[in-house]
Amino acid sequence: MQELLLEIDSLKILKEKRAEELVIANKELLFQNEEKEKRAQELIIANKELLFQNKEKEKRAQELIVANRKLVFLNEEKEKRAQELIIAKEHAEQSDRLKSAFLANMSHEIRTPMNGVLGFANILRDADLSGEEQQEYLKLMEESGIRMLSIISAIVDISKIESGLMKVNLKELSINEKLDEIYTSFKPEMDRKGMQFSVKKSLPAIKDIICTDPYKIYSILTNLVKNAIKYSDEGSIEFGYNVRTKSEKAVLEFFVKDTGIGIPKDRQKAIFERFIQANITDKMARQGAGLGLSISKAFVEFLGGEIWLSSEEGKGSVFYFTIPYKSPFVGDSIV
Ligand code: ADP
Repeated sequence: MQELLLEIDSLKILKEKRAEELVIANKELLFQNEEKEKRAQELIIANKELLFQNKEKEKRAQELIVANRKLVFLNEEKEKRAQELIIAKEHAEQSDRLKSAFLANMSHEIRTPMNGVLGFANILRDADLSGEEQQEYLKLMEESGIRMLSIISAIVDISKIESGLMKVNLKELSINEKLDEIYTSFKPEMDRKGMQFSVKKSLPAIKDIICTDPYKIYSILTNLVKNAIKYSDEGSIEFGYNVRTKSEKAVLEFFVKDTGIGIPKDRQKAIFERFIQANITDKMARQGAGLGLSISKAFVEFLGGEIWLSSEEGKGSVFYFTIPYKSPFVGDSIV
């Protein structure tokens, strides 16, 4: 019995000890739990902070992308502007060079016939000249005067075109009569050169009367025929017109065809520009200021038409231009 009591006591003590240990362990666990809870809270906060930072970074990255795009665009714009400036500078330089060449050429073009006039006037003072010789010198003086007048008219025309002062003066004009007039005025020169010369008129009288600017038509045609004669030494020259339809409208398509030196392919566009000649080295051999075709082109455009050419070196050239067919008698329908 004594032993049993002792055993019970020792069991009680053991239990109490165990209970105390459990209490301690429990407290330890509670503490650990609290610590974990605290840590978890801290992690949540840290996580939120990271999220926030990430969002900020994303925003900043987007802003940088936009800023970058703007810079790329600005750079491209600057590049474009720089290219434009380079082109403008080249144009200005080219135009400057052309103007200087033009002035040099023009002084030559004016001085040569002027010297002719003065020189022959001096010779004519000589009382010993025969009547025939006098006539010959007077003819040479006249030719020099005509050459000078034509260069001055070209300068006046180009200045009027450039300054916007050139007007279109519409009048009724018989195209056939104009062509005959041009034919008659160039025929003697063609005979002297021993070349064939012909004119083609496609409309009958009355129907050939159109409403146009006579001065411009005359200038374009005489300039093209003059060039055809100037740049051909043999063969034939034919000029005239056909009636055609362009975009359902009737047009007169003029042509001037020669069997002359022709124009190299790479110069065919440039010759319509001011002061440009197809072959610069030929400049002194065949007089000219390089203005005729640019004036003709401007005049054709004033009249609402187009000008172009087809040419083969050594074989000859055909210059074409159109003007609207506006007849006061038959309207603008094809006849
Ligand atoms: P230019 O007064 O020099 O004749 P144009 O403007 O009339 O001036 O002509 C420009 C250039 O075109 C000429 O210098 C010439 O080289 C070329 N050209 C014009 N017409 C002809 C043609 N019918 N045949 C060959 N070359 C031509």
